[in-house]
Amino acid sequence: MPYRVFEEYDIEVTEDIKNQYQGVIKNIGEDVTREGLIKTPERAAKAMQFLTSGYDKDPVEILKGAMFAEDYNDMVIIKDIELYSLCEHHMLPFFGKAHIAYIPNGHIVGLSKIPRIVDVFARRLQVQERLTHDILECLHNTLKPLGVAVVIEASHMCMMMRGVQKQNSVTTTSGFRGQFEKVETRNEFLKLITAKLH
Ligand SMILES: [Zn+2]
Repeated sequence: MPYRVFEEYDIEVTEDIKNQYQGVIKNIGEDVTREGLIKTPERAAKAMQFLTSGYDKDPVEILKGAMFAEDYNDMVIIKDIELYSLCEHHMLPFFGKAHIAYIPNGHIVGLSKIPRIVDVFARRLQVQERLTHDILECLHNTLKPLGVAVVIEASHMCMMMRGVQKQNSVTTTSGFRGQFEKVETRNEFLKLITAKLH
């Protein structure tokens, strides 16, 4: 079976965003009628809707749909989760990796659900700090584990392409709940992911 992506877009919303992108293209001094740009407003409108499709999804429902009772009380770590988001200040991409750990308290969650909730929160207009916090709180409140840790390292196009043009800087944010607030547990987690940290 070939890989297929099914995409659905609201026709009216797409038309509206398309018209606005046409305005943007004209205002930067381009010709919206030239061949290479003729379908750009529509493509950009669809791309923007996809990149912000996290608003329509419920991360709690995603987690609850794959929680299983299990007597496992050791740290579960998912490293190097690819992450792509849009900064809410410039609507430019920021991208990098998330490293997430939790210590189960009677329930584990299907491993693929954790990258999925990262996507749900990342596909919104975000700041890296809030993205970190959103993921942390969602896992903490839904899974009710003994502890949760989230570390995100990301590069921001708004820093790299404009403004200070610091092309190699990486921003790291982190949040810890429960047992990860204890230094020893947090250090164990950081040690386990540290080889991948910048
Ligand atoms: Zn920005």
